[in-house]
Amino acid sequence: MEPLAAFAAISKAIDIAKNLTLLKGPAERNAGLAELQKLLIDAHGVAMSLQNQNASLLDRNQELEQEVVRLKDWSQQRALYALRQIGQGAFAYVAHTAVQSVRDVEKLCPKCFGEDKIGILSTEQEFPDVILQCTNGCRPMKFVHFV
Ligand SMILES: [Zn+2]
Repeated sequence: MEPLAAFAAISKAIDIAKNLTLLKGPAERNAGLAELQKLLIDAHGVAMSLQNQNASLLDRNQELEQEVVRLKDWSQQRALYALRQIGQGAFAYVAHTAVQSVRDVEKLCPKCFGEDKIGILSTEQEFPDVILQCTNGCRPMKFVHFV
């Protein structure tokens, strides 16, 4: 039952309740009471359904508000980094303000960066090849040496 139908049922129930005293005989009154009871039960069912829908919508709204906050924070943080070449055929996000060699600065995983999350690349090995591992478990980045 849609909300409008529930309001119509409640309105009809009110009319029946107002006119119960006008009904003649116990059979008419019992029929009126039965219809009144059915309308109230239906309206109660709709009210419960609407309450559940409302709770679900409030939960979803809260999730979306948290996502907006996360994306705003990420957007501000994202602006602090730029994609730089760190090795032959190897790129990572590095802070704009970094003045040290790419070997010595914090490097962020480009795959994770593209997915709006931070994955810090740590050096697993430097010789014979450089191998960087993302904290989020992405495939290791391998190249000959830092540029
Ligand atoms: Zn990653």
